[in-house]
Amino acid sequence: MNYLKKRILKDGQVFEGNVLKVDSFLNHQIDPMVMKEIEEELYAHYKDKGITKVLTIEASGIAPAIMMAAHLEVPMLFAKKSEPSTLSNQEKYSTLVHSYTKNVTSEVMISKQYLSKDDKVLIVDDFLANGEAALGLVDLVEQAGAKVVGVGICIEKSFQSGRQKLEERGLEVYSICRIASLENQTVTFLEDVKE
Ligand code: 5GP
Repeated sequence: MNYLKKRILKDGQVFEGNVLKVDSFLNHQIDPMVMKEIEEELYAHYKDKGITKVLTIEASGIAPAIMMAAHLEVPMLFAKKSEPSTLSNQEKYSTLVHSYTKNVTSEVMISKQYLSKDDKVLIVDDFLANGEAALGLVDLVEQAGAKVVGVGICIEKSFQSGRQKLEERGLEVYSICRIASLENQTVTFLEDVKE
């Protein structure tokens, strides 16, 4: 069992609405050993794909994304959830993303300056639930005429529709850990169901 799964079993808390709280090692306080493992696994999987940029969404995706970008030696770009006063409509790509945990839809944006049609982009995020955040990022990449190489996820909730939606768009999804169920406040990993 990898270290991320051990931390989830030890410190993860299941909340109403199938929300897994991982504030003690991923979403608030960050365990660097968890980050190191995520970086190494994602790097092993994506190192030969010619990635030129790692893209995520603020805030929780930034830590794993910067680790991966540092290993690949490419820039990391994060979509912003609030509009900087220095960025005009003509200068940005924007899209709408519905937040699973906050239940609000908001505009997210990136500057056109940092994504071009020649980019091969790896999308990285902390969680994959219904795929709203990842699909919003795919939309931004497509607006720039760039290519999504794959989607790297720390914790996938496989009982929700995100992976299916991304795969239907022809995108490859690689997750460090996949959760089959959070029923009865218990975390069950997909591999344990299959065994
Ligand atoms: P999606 O957009 O795939 O529906 O949800 C992914 C986004 O919602 C992630 O960026 C993550 O921040 C948040 N999220 C979704 N499910 C969970 C969860 O169970 N726990 C936490 N901490 N965040 C979640």
